[in-house]
Amino acid sequence: MNHTFDVFISGCGPVGLLGPTQQSRAFGITPHTMEIFQHHGLTYRILQQSIACRGGTLFLNGKDMGDLHFDEFDAVFPQLTFLSQSKVEAILVDEIEKIHGKIHWNTELIEYEQQKDCIVAQVKDHTSGKTFEVAAQYIIGSDGCHSSIRKQNPTWTYEGNSIQSNFALADFVLEGADISRIRNRQVVFYHSKGASVLIPLPHEDDGDSVTMRMVSNLGTYATDHGAKVTHGTDNPREELTLDQVKDLMDERMNNLQVSIKRPIWLTFFNVNERMANGFRRGRAFIMGDAAHCHSPAGGQGMNIGLQDAENLAWKLSLALNDESSDSEKLLDSYSIEREPIVRSVVDATGILTRVAMSNSFVMSLARYAGLAVAYAVPPVRRILVNRILQLDFTLGDSPIIAPPKPNERFLEQGGHSLKETRALLSKDVTIAVERKTIFEILEKWNNKHAVFWMITRQTWQQEPDVKLTNAFIDGISRYNSCRGFVFQSTTQFATFDDFNSTTQHKVVDYWIDTHAISSADSLTSKLGLTAHLTDSKSKIPPAALVILRPDRYIAYSSLVSTQLELDQAFTFMDSYLLQNQ
Ligand SMILES: Cc1cc2nc3c(=O)[nH]c(=O)nc-3n(C[C@H](O)[C@H](O)[C@H](O)COP(=O)(O)OP(=O)(O)OC[C@H]3O[C@@H](n4cnc5c(N)ncnc54)[C@H](O)[C@@H]3O)c2cc1C
Repeated sequence: MNHTFDVFISGCGPVGLLGPTQQSRAFGITPHTMEIFQHHGLTYRILQQSIACRGGTLFLNGKDMGDLHFDEFDAVFPQLTFLSQSKVEAILVDEIEKIHGKIHWNTELIEYEQQKDCIVAQVKDHTSGKTFEVAAQYIIGSDGCHSSIRKQNPTWTYEGNSIQSNFALADFVLEGADISRIRNRQVVFYHSKGASVLIPLPHEDDGDSVTMRMVSNLGTYATDHGAKVTHGTDNPREELTLDQVKDLMDERMNNLQVSIKRPIWLTFFNVNERMANGFRRGRAFIMGDAAHCHSPAGGQGMNIGLQDAENLAWKLSLALNDESSDSEKLLDSYSIEREPIVRSVVDATGILTRVAMSNSFVMSLARYAGLAVAYAVPPVRRILVNRILQLDFTLGDSPIIAPPKPNERFLEQGGHSLKETRALLSKDVTIAVERKTIFEILEKWNNKHAVFWMITRQTWQQEPDVKLTNAFIDGISRYNSCRGFVFQSTTQFATFDDFNSTTQHKVVDYWIDTHAISSADSLTSKLGLTAHLTDSKSKIPPAALVILRPDRYIAYSSLVSTQLELDQAFTFMDSYLLQNQ
């Protein structure tokens, strides 16, 4: 055996964080994925090269139905960020090389075997022609829809269908009188013969032209339920010509004064809608297209693949560092948490595709009525945009997420992701005043659980219980995998001096939420404590205790007024986190 590793990752796409290509399939990055990039300090590089698309326009049978505005939504990046998959991959590769060193290019996984304590893989280096045996504790297949990791385990299926008709993809530079109407927007054209979508691509804008991608379906919806996987741009059934692209534009966009100045990449591609039956088998995991593929309607595939990776990474890290009290439960939760989200994306993109491709009279009528309502009625529009931007993703039933407590309904509950805040003020102002948003504060503690202790009061209430705060600090010091945060809301508590000074700076950070507790942007409001205080009749206000996972999803939240309630939070932590030995 030549090498031993913690984790063997097979696959060079964005999800395995490898492998630039010339022609990029994915472009759209959702706000949720941008937040993941922010946690890893990568947003600056992404934003530097990308285009921010802040809205969309819909044409229904030639009629302009109006605009959707993404920036009316509560997200840090209320936009679709367009950057080619190859550039995203290059940024990730650069980052990996900075942190971990070498990536093994041009190297293929031939086969692997699960043993009791490890996996053993046969790997071929195509540069030297040599074959190696590699042992690792875990193996991850991020090797695309034809995944060898998945195929080599006969218990894994990849059920679903192949859509039989062709899809066309055209990247081009457009010019004409109407380019200002479509610049930096996502434009959808529904027509009786099918749908076309224009999305903006990053380019050097000369003011007279725009670079865009057009994706269109051809023919009606028909599926083949066979097992053969045909997804993607690799094996188009025929070649797409410039004349065919022009015909499609004439057919579906005839109300826009635009024409092709220069084609960049024209191809047909195939769409499959498939999902594996579970994403874990013992020491083997699959993620990204290896675990699921679907229609690119809405540009979700790369995004949910990257979110798979974010979900699994910290769990493997805890298991490998012996910091989990139940690593089997923890690792099982990867598939349990990701499958419902993936299923909802596969179903939603499938419905969108079927609706777009149907040319029956009844479906055309339903499409017209449905989209007209979606655009005209704000709550329906909100649901639509939340889905496009992936702002509605929450984790459902999971063995490592506490169920909601009915009497604490205002508190941000387990399974929800943390929302960004305005800047908080560091309690330590001995050297300089430091102000940071909650995401900036957490960046330093990327690989740890962040456990919040939020205390505040209304003016008629007494100050929160200092003894309980000290007990929180003592308790949190027992977990290497956690970082404690004491947040005071408003500056009305003059000092922290009463708090346990021996352990405090080693295990907790102190920050002050200086915004009024009623302000919607304050941390107190975002965690839902403000609403409970307004309801509270108690003289001594409860604290809010929130356990935040490294992927920024809330695992547990509770109002705490007694030692018993504090102990319940630590009991929850003990269910999968190990205390220091
Ligand atoms: C036309 C089109 C447009 C799309 N647009 C969007 C979009 O706008 N937004 C979005 O989020 N998604 C989009 N997608 C989906 C997105 O491209 C995929 O979901 C994404 O590329 C999946 O990444 P991955 O890393 O899982 O797999 P892949 O990108 O397929 O990468 C898998 C890698 O594994 C390597 N590999 C395979 N077998 C082995 C082996 N045995 N050993 C070693 N390496 C191996 C391959 O060479 C490849 O590099 C689009 C897809 C299509 C087809």
